[in-house]
Amino acid sequence: MISDKHIVLLVGGVGGAKLAYGMAKILPAEQLTIIVNTGDDFWHYGLRICPDLDTITYTLGGVVDPHNGWGLAGDTRQTMKSLKHFGADPWFGLGDRDLATHLFRTQLWHEKISLTQITQQITEAFGIKHTILPMTDAPVPTLVETIERGTLGFQEYFVKYRWQPTVTHIYSAGIEQTTISPQVQEALNRADAIVIGPSNPWLSINPILSVPGMRAMIEKGDKPRIAMTPIIAGNAVKGPTAKIMRELGYKVTAHTVCEFYGSSINGFIIDECDKDLGEIFSTPTLAIDTLMDTNEKRVQVARETLNWIKEIR
Ligand code: GDP
Repeated sequence: MISDKHIVLLVGGVGGAKLAYGMAKILPAEQLTIIVNTGDDFWHYGLRICPDLDTITYTLGGVVDPHNGWGLAGDTRQTMKSLKHFGADPWFGLGDRDLATHLFRTQLWHEKISLTQITQQITEAFGIKHTILPMTDAPVPTLVETIERGTLGFQEYFVKYRWQPTVTHIYSAGIEQTTISPQVQEALNRADAIVIGPSNPWLSINPILSVPGMRAMIEKGDKPRIAMTPIIAGNAVKGPTAKIMRELGYKVTAHTVCEFYGSSINGFIIDECDKDLGEIFSTPTLAIDTLMDTNEKRVQVARETLNWIKEIR
C-alpha cells in the first residue's frame, strides 16, 4: 500500500508547486518530504531571497497569489514603488507582506542558522505540517550564459531580462563544494519512492540532482523514481523551458526530458495528448492528463501518480 510509504518529491517553483499541492492534500505529513531547488536564490537589497522555497511554502500554506502562482495573495507593492524615489529600478517584485518572510529569513541567516532550519521555522509559521527542505544549505547560484548579455545570475536572466537572451549554457556555481544536508540524506534514506515534479529540468531539477551524492542516493536500491513531463504537446505550460531546450539544441518533446533524466528515473509520466507521438522511451511511461489548472486537477494528477508508483513497485 502506498498509503504507508514515504514519498520524496523534488521540485522547483510554480510548476512543481502544483504537484506538491496535490500530494500534500493526499499524503499525511510523515509520508511526504519536498526537496526544493535553491539555485534561484539570491541577495537583493541586502535580503536573502529564496523564490522556489517561498512558492512551495505559500502554495502549501494556502496563501499563494492564485493569479501568478508565486507571492502572497492580495499583497501590495508599496515598498517597491517607494524605492523608485531613490532612482532605484526595482525589477524584482517583492510584495509588502512577502518582505516580512525575507526580513525574517535574512535575520536568521546572519545569525548563522542553516537554511534548512530557517525554512522549518517559516513553514511552521504558515501552518504547514509537511517537511519542505532546501536541496542544500550552501548558496549554489544558477548562472546562465547568454549570447546577448554574457553570464547572468538566474534572476537577472529570468526576471530582469524576461528570459529573452539566448541561452548557451547553464551551471550551478560552486556546486562541487556543497554537500547534502543531514535532513535531505535522512529523507532520501527513508524514501520508498522518489517523484520529480513537472518543473524545468534544466533550471529547477538539474541543480538538485547536481548536489554531490544526490544522484547516487536517489538511484540507491530499487525503488520507484519517476518524473513528470513539463512539456505538453511540444510546449511548456508556462515559462522558458521550451525556449531553453531549443537554444541548447534539444528537440522540444517529453522524450527529450525523459532522456535528460537518464538513470535518475525508472518511470516517466507523459501527457495523454503525447501518447501517440510514437516516441520510444527507454523507461516505462504512464500517459495521463497532466495539466493541473485547478486544485481538483492537482489532487487528481497526484493521485494518479501515487497509484502508478503502487503498480510499479
Ligand atoms: P519555476 O521555477 O517557477 O519556473 O517553476 P518550475 O520549474 O517548478 O516549473 C516550470 C515548468 O512547469 C514549466 O516547464 C511548465 O511547463 C511546467 N508546468 C507548469 N504547470 C504545469 C502543469 O499543469 N502540468 C505540467 N505537466 N507541467 C506544468
